Amino acid sequence: MDKNCLFCKIIAGEIPSNKVYEDEDMLAFRDINPQAKTHVLVVPKSHFATLAEMNAEQAELLKKCFVKIPEIAKSLGLESGYRLIVNQGKDAGQTVFHLHIHILGGQNMGEKLV
Ligand code: 5GP
Ligand code: ZN
Repeated sequence: MDKNCLFCKIIAGEIPSNKVYEDEDMLAFRDINPQAKTHVLVVPKSHFATLAEMNAEQAELLKKCFVKIPEIAKSLGLESGYRLIVNQGKDAGQTVFHLHIHILGGQNMGEKLV
């Protein structure tokens, strides 16, 4: 845990969140400023800011997050699809430097960036 990290504090329960899924490896909770009808963040329970800082153990955790996402998406009613975003660094607009995956859906997600 990084004591200065917002998401570490949410994982520790020091800051409340609207949880949609939790297990020993990850926490998923609703974004406080949703950018789509459904906007959930999936956060591995190990602090690392970006993929560049990720160690082998954390890579396993991230893999578990991706394996779990279809189940989380289903529980959110996103059967017709969703978009995943992982912002990396300043140019991508990353604001919380604890790696997280955005799940966006519940509506047509509009024009694609790529
Ligand atoms: P980033 O811009 O780093 O990819 O995403 C960070 C996300 O965290 C943003 O979408 C922002 O709305 C969300 N966020 C920031 N502070 C909080 C908070 O205290 N609680 C929750 N649930 N989400 C937060
Ligand atoms: Zn953290």
